[in-house]
Parts: sequence; structure tokens; C-alpha cells
Amino acid sequence: MSVTKTDALVIGAGVAGLYQLHRLRQAGYAVTCIDAAPDIGGTWHWNCYPGARLDSPSYTYQYWFSEDIYNEWEWSERFATQPEIKRYFKFVADKLDLWPNIALNTRIKSAIWDATAGEWRVASECGREWRARYLISCVGMLSAPKTPLFPEQDRFAGTVLHTARWPQEGIDLRGKRVGVVGVGATGIQVIQTLASEVEDLYVFQRTPQYAVNMNNYPLTQKDHDFWRSQYPTMRHSLHTTFGGFEWNIPEVGVAAEMTPEERLRILEDCWQDGSLKMWVGTYPEVLADEAINDEASEFVRAKIRARIDDPAIADKLIPKHYGFGTYRVPLETNYYDAFNRNNVHLVDVKAHPIEGFTADGLMVDGQEYALDVLIFATGFDAGTGALSRVDVRGIAGQSLSELWRRDIRSTLGLQVHGFPNLFTVAGPLAPSTAFCNMTTCLQQQVDWITDAILYMREQGKSQMEASAEKEEEWIQHHDEIAESTLLMKTNSWYTGANIEGKPRRLLSYVGGVGVYKEICEEIRANHFAGFNIT
Ligand code: NAP
Repeated sequence: MSVTKTDALVIGAGVAGLYQLHRLRQAGYAVTCIDAAPDIGGTWHWNCYPGARLDSPSYTYQYWFSEDIYNEWEWSERFATQPEIKRYFKFVADKLDLWPNIALNTRIKSAIWDATAGEWRVASECGREWRARYLISCVGMLSAPKTPLFPEQDRFAGTVLHTARWPQEGIDLRGKRVGVVGVGATGIQVIQTLASEVEDLYVFQRTPQYAVNMNNYPLTQKDHDFWRSQYPTMRHSLHTTFGGFEWNIPEVGVAAEMTPEERLRILEDCWQDGSLKMWVGTYPEVLADEAINDEASEFVRAKIRARIDDPAIADKLIPKHYGFGTYRVPLETNYYDAFNRNNVHLVDVKAHPIEGFTADGLMVDGQEYALDVLIFATGFDAGTGALSRVDVRGIAGQSLSELWRRDIRSTLGLQVHGFPNLFTVAGPLAPSTAFCNMTTCLQQQVDWITDAILYMREQGKSQMEASAEKEEEWIQHHDEIAESTLLMKTNSWYTGANIEGKPRRLLSYVGGVGVYKEICEEIRANHFAGFNIT
């Protein structure tokens, strides 16, 4: 079998992988970027389900390293659709001529650290092998679908689809009886899009969501000019905010000391913005103080209630058992209106879990729901799932997936002790796993990793590994901040609770994108202190 030698291997050709390829290639390294998909785009390739679109404003969700690229691309809506985002990545790949270094249709099955040679031996399912000094995982934090879910789902003779593996050619669902399991950010986009297209839509809901109304609109020349005028400042300022967005946690004083009317006005202002600003752009205490969080939760519940005609259905759609913002906040356009339609049926699978499957559909509470198509919008094994599906072995054959099965550890989400020269973009315990406008954090991490590699070159060194002490220090800091929030109280993918047996830890650093970047910068300024470089 032929073995290709390269300086760096990048796994994943999505937002992070494409930029990582560009940075290293520009620095003169031989780089190959590999992806299992038949096309680039990562999550934006696979998640081509009906209604998939951004919930970061389009102009904040892009690359910042080139003003030319920023100026040449024009987004058509405030929150772009999946096909438009995919076109954007192709535009960037063309512009930078990235294609010769990308290998598609190639799924990595193993990556073994060869301590003697000081390189990674990487093998694909299709029988290719590489030897690379640096291995950079850009596999995405929400890319390993949670599937199959039910042992007997194969009994169903109809069509079964997962939103993250939607057929690229699309599928005509008109006139069909369709079931959707899952009402997270994905399920909500699917449901609101399909409600008016299909014959009957059965929504199998376990945990209702606090969905915030999305204020989407077509962008005009005035909008384009505005966003472009922001480029010089925004490319820096996004990195100083809490969530990597154009807004920050406001310095409005202590929420508890405001009058309820003042807090209500702030909630209403953020609600009107129709964006994720509602999540934590109101006041910081919303994620830390139960009473303040209760108030925000009640505010959103009232907004939901006002949209639904039938109070009994409203009651089922309104979350009661967890606080607003502690489960990823989805944006919606006509999700709640869908439940005012006669062809949309809400089935509560919290009270009565899905019992099993028949050839015609699925069973809940002794009743069969006959379906033509069943859609799983059931989410992902987040943060650790995608890389755990590769057999990654570090020093002394230590398995990364076994380590993460016991305990989810990393150093700033960038490296894992025991795995030299393995770098992870959007790895667990960095803000990029959940609490960041992804493009902001991914670019910052790619820049840090590239600088680390360039630093090694400057110093005549070739290996870098997070020390055990640095890792422990980071985990303690991460956990301390996580425990001071309400996020740990809610079961969702944020805490790994959606995957049976997954160790419970907040997957994402919640100290803020700005703070995280400062910590990374300080490490870099101190010659990557805490990382052993040899
Ligand atoms: P998710 O938030 O994990 O939601 C999965 C849904 O499936 C939940 O409603 C869950 O219920 C349900 N579910 C899972 N197993 C089930 C079972 N056995 N029986 C019944 N219901 C079950 O996944 P997601 O909606 O795919 O979203 C994941 C993340 O992707 C989002 O939080 C967001 O960060 C990202 N995303 C972003 C966008 C965007 O930017 N526009 C769009 C979509 C997704 P429980 O809650 O009870 O477990």
C-alpha cells in the first residue's frame, strides 16, 4: 500500500478545515485536507434538510483574514440558507485554489502516533495511508449524528431520514404523512418548513424549547454597505465579546438591582432584535441567577403562548422544567404557527416515550401513528463524537475515545495530554463547542494552532504536547465557571446528557470568547508555556 508523506493532515473540509489548510499551505507546509463527504462545507454539506439556515447573522459568519473575500461576497438574507452558505465555501475554495490539497470521499478510520518517527500514521477506510508530523482535527463539534436511536426502527417499512444525512438531491414530501422526532434547533427548522408542504405532520416532542422569533429579511445595498464598513473593526471586536457575535453582554449594571420594568424593557428590546442576542445579550445574570432566569423564562413563555390558538397545545409547547438559555436557544419563523394548522399534530413522547415500530409507523401510548416518512432530528454526539469515531491512539497506544468515554479532558480544547502534535479545532472545553458564533472561534483556534506550529519551526523543534499540569489547570478553571452557571442543571447536548453513558461535563467553555482568546494570547506570548515543546 502506498504511503503519502506530508507535513500536516487536516481532517474535515468545513469552516475550520478549509482555513487551516489555507494557513499552513501559505506558511509553506505540505498539507492535505481530508473529508468523508463528497463535497466541502462540513456541517453545511451534510445538513441540507428543508429549512436549514444560519442563526448567526450572515455577515458575522464568515472568514475575516481577507478583506477582498469579505468584500466580494454578498449575502442575500440576514440569516442565510444552507445552499447559500455552501456556495460561499465553494467561492472561498475557488478563490484560494484550495482544491488540489483536498481529498474528498475519504473517511479516516485510524490515526496512530509513531513515537519513534515523531509522526502520525493515518489510514482511511478506502485503504489510503499518510504519515504526517501534525494532525489537525477539524471534524466539527456537531457532526456525529446520534443514530440509530431505536433498536427496532428497521421494522418501519417507510422512508427513514436523519437531518444530518439528508439526501443531497432532496426528497419530495408533498402529500406524504411525515413524522419528525426531535424539536431542537434542527427539528424546529424542519417542522416550520414542512408544515405547509406535507399532508400530515406528526411532531414527536420530548422536551419543548424556548424558541425565539427570528427577524430575518433580505439584505439591501444599504445593508451590504453597512456591514462592509464594519469590517476593519468587527474582525477584531467579534473576538472580544462573550459569544463571538456583533453584540456583547451589556454592561447595564446588576440586573437584580434594576426594576422589573427596566428588565422587561431590555428583554423586549432583545426580543425585537430577533436573534441570539436574546440568549444572553439581555443581562449576564440570566445564565447564573435563578430568579432573573425565571423572569426571562416567563417572558419567553408568554411570547410562545400568544402564538398558539389552542391552550392545551400551548401548554405542551411551553417549557416548564428548565430555564431559558440553558438548552441551546433555537430561532424560529413560523414554528409555533405550524401548530395552529389542522395537519400538524403534536405527540408528547415525554409522558409516553416511543414504544416501538411497526411496518406502517411508530407506537406511542398504545396508538399507532401511520407514516410514509420518519425524520430523525435527534441531534449529535457533540464535541467528542466525531473524533471518537476514529481510532486515535497517542503515547503508549492510549485511545482518545476510551479516554473521553471515562472523562472529557482537553487543554483549552486545543490539545489533549498524551497526544503530541494532535491539535483539535472546536474540541471539547473550548467556547467553540457551543458558546460561540462558530466562525469567530474556529478562526481564532486555527490561528493559534498555526502560530504554535510556526513557533516550533522557528525554534527548530517538532513536537508539542499539552502538559498534564496545564490540562488539569484548564479543566479546573473550566469546571469552576461551568458550575457557577445554571447550564449544568439542564439535560441537553451542552452537558453530554443526550448520549447515554457520556461523562457529564459542560462541553464548552463558558468564560466568554474574549476571555478565552486573552488566555490563548497570553500562552502564545509566553512561548506556549504549559505545552511541552521538544
Ligand atoms: P438537539 O438540540 O440535541 O435536539 C435533539 C432533539 O431530539 C431533542 O428534541 C431531543 O429531545 C430529541 N430526541 C433525541 N432522542 C430522542 C428520543 N429517543 N426520543 C424522542 N426525542 C428524542 O439536536 P439538533 O436540533 O440537531 O441541534 C443540535 C445543535 O446544532 C443545536 O443546538 C445548534 O447548536 C446546532 N444547530 C444550529 C442551527 C443553526 O445555526 N441554524 C440549526 C440546527 C442546529 P430531548 O431534548 O428530550 O433530549
